[in-house]
Amino acid sequence: MNQHADQTRQYSSEENRTRASRPETKRLGQAFRVFLRYPTPAIISTLFVVSSFVRLVLGRWSAWDLVASAIVVGYWPFQEWFAHKYLLHLKPFRFLGRTIDIYPAARHRAHHQNPSDFSLVFLPWHVPLIAFAAFVGLGYLVFHSFALTMTIMTTFSAVALAYEWIHFITHTDYVPKTAYMRRIWRNHRLHHYKNEHYWFSFTMPAMDEWMGTGGPHDQVEKSE
Ligand SMILES: [Zn+2]
Ligand SMILES: [Zn+2]
Ligand SMILES: [Zn+2]
Repeated sequence: MNQHADQTRQYSSEENRTRASRPETKRLGQAFRVFLRYPTPAIISTLFVVSSFVRLVLGRWSAWDLVASAIVVGYWPFQEWFAHKYLLHLKPFRFLGRTIDIYPAARHRAHHQNPSDFSLVFLPWHVPLIAFAAFVGLGYLVFHSFALTMTIMTTFSAVALAYEWIHFITHTDYVPKTAYMRRIWRNHRLHHYKNEHYWFSFTMPAMDEWMGTGGPHDQVEKSE
């Protein structure tokens, strides 16, 4: 208990140093310029531009393009919630006599220890590249159509970019204006500063209500 309190103090002084040295993000335009400076948003933006360009060139539109896009949009909030809860918050565990601490979880732990460090907010830069390759393969396997695969990749990179932007915004000094963004912003701050076992979603905050990881806030105990 005491040891943990010490850790919390140590993190917050580290956090104060990080806050003091990072670029200004009070205004949306400032935040957007900082966002584009990091490799992961730049890589996902490039994937979006390339796949949407290839998709436009291929033509041959059909209702299946809408179906494929809808599948990706419907799937994303689930991936977000499950990956955040079970992968990113996976504690180091013992396996065959050794301690396993998977990289995404270790990195996410670092993000929780220093939430003000922008470089820890984003997915590791290689993750979108691996996911993109995997989903191109999967898309082609399911639909046997390069055009539909590109529709999937365009949608996938768009929602991935929206996720990165939304997560980034919750850690900037910009205060969102719309009710929807305010809800996401508040939920993610509660996840960081109140209880890391709740509020795992981003783009669709209702996910947490459905999965039993939302409010009411006074009933949620503060995590260790
Ligand atoms: Zn965060
Ligand atoms: Zn988390
Ligand atoms: Zn905990």
